Amino acid sequence: MTKDERKYYDKLARLGCSLCKHLGLGESPAEIHHIRRLGGKRILAEVIPLCPEHHRGNTGIHGLGRKGFFNHYGIDEDYLLDKTKELV
Ligand SMILES: [Zn+2]
Ligand SMILES: [Zn+2]
Repeated sequence: MTKDERKYYDKLARLGCSLCKHLGLGESPAEIHHIRRLGGKRILAEVIPLCPEHHRGNTGIHGLGRKGFFNHYGIDEDYLLDKTKELV
């Protein structure tokens, strides 16, 4: 990880979980989720902050999968990415 990445990720994590915010749950301590594109390349800007539950828990992006996540919340990673970019 480069210095710039570390800085950017720290900044994002401090914004709090983007899904909790969307759900009106306020600010939850967040970790960084990398959005996987076809080809599997990790791009610096393609990350969103998610709390541990919404990241790795049963109701999270990895627990539900992309499709399950959308069915459950009616939004997808790209929506959260757009919202996150508005705040950075
Ligand atoms: Zn959350
Ligand atoms: Zn993740």
